[in-house]
Amino acid sequence: MLTVEEALAAILSRVSVLGTERVDVLGSLGRVLAEVVVSRREIPPWPNSSMDGYAVRAEDTGQGAALAVVGRVEAGGLPLRVVGRGEAVRIFTGAPLPEGADAVVPQEDVEATDARIALRAPVERAAFVRSRGEDVRIGDRVLEPGRLLTAAEIGLLATLGYGQVRVYRRPRVAILSTGNELADLGTEPGPGQIPNTNTYTLMAQVLEAGAEPVSLGVAPDRLEAIEERVRAGRDADMLVSSAGVSVGELDLVREALTRAGAELHLWQVSMRPGKPITFGSLGSCPVFGLPGNPVSAMVTFELFVRPALLKMAGRQRLTRPRVHARALAPVPNPGSRRGYLRVHLEPVGAGLGARLTGEQGSAILRSMVAADGLAVVPPDTVVPAGGDLEIIVLRELP
Ligand code: AMP
Ligand code: MG
Repeated sequence: MLTVEEALAAILSRVSVLGTERVDVLGSLGRVLAEVVVSRREIPPWPNSSMDGYAVRAEDTGQGAALAVVGRVEAGGLPLRVVGRGEAVRIFTGAPLPEGADAVVPQEDVEATDARIALRAPVERAAFVRSRGEDVRIGDRVLEPGRLLTAAEIGLLATLGYGQVRVYRRPRVAILSTGNELADLGTEPGPGQIPNTNTYTLMAQVLEAGAEPVSLGVAPDRLEAIEERVRAGRDADMLVSSAGVSVGELDLVREALTRAGAELHLWQVSMRPGKPITFGSLGSCPVFGLPGNPVSAMVTFELFVRPALLKMAGRQRLTRPRVHARALAPVPNPGSRRGYLRVHLEPVGAGLGARLTGEQGSAILRSMVAADGLAVVPPDTVVPAGGDLEIIVLRELP
């Protein structure tokens, strides 16, 4: 049996980073940067005031100094006067500092009468002045490839004049559900049928991972039917199927994949939930055969498919953050496989507390719906109440 880490390493060694494309800067939100961003601008472009007040020469501002106000400069304007000895210029936040001045006195710190100001205290050089290039200098490498672009990076790119930016292509992922018992959304399940869950959870997980899902629908448990869908999906960047990968007579996914030309590995991975998982390559398209039970499909997606998608999309960090939490009730993991148990998290003191989300059966989807994270519990272990749990975080922390 492989460990989860061994299986993941084997998968990652067989998937490669996709190509790149240029997109509008706002459209790059949530995408992965594929170029080095070097600043061709100085930010701020000139020294400017961080307060409404008066631009002065610090050396003129001794206790009780009185200065003559000889001009005015607003944001968007240009100073018309040099500030000479004994002089000040009225200035507003964001306005360029006039030549001669080297500090700003906030307006609340002066007594202003007609064209003169009296200072209550001396000011230091550079006080309330934002210096040229204090944020970004020309030639600075401000962003590196592999960076996930969020609002702050988008703002920086716009500030540096980037209308477009080069990002990695989003992986297109074909999703196939298999099983004679499945009634798809829009059809009321008949006798002996169950609703198709996995197409929707897996497509949603693909979207959450920043990739683009394409549904191949539901194939019945017939070799030719599955093979035909697989062939229809092989142009995608990845193919993910669920169910039909165990050892029953109706578990035909592996044979159908092989017939369609895939080279497959079947692994027993030491984890619960999740039985054997199938992974392989169909030409250059990585293929996964995930287990059919909805929770197993979701957890194996989390642990194996998501990191592979992130790698293809150029991301540096491929795994979710992990935190520690205190068990609020005993957490048992009987059996010889490592547990990935669904837990609810809540703030406890300065840290986090975790409790199981109820029954942990791999068909109990609501154990996943209530889950904030997966507790990683060694085999044959009961973590007692108060004990430490390592948690893979699936949602924003409470
Ligand atoms: P299998 O691996 O085909 O034996 O499937 C394992 C279990 O998962 C069975 O109870 C199936 O009915 C169930 N299952 C398989 N595919 C889906 C699906 N798309 N949605 C919900 N349940 C499924
Ligand atoms: Mg089946």
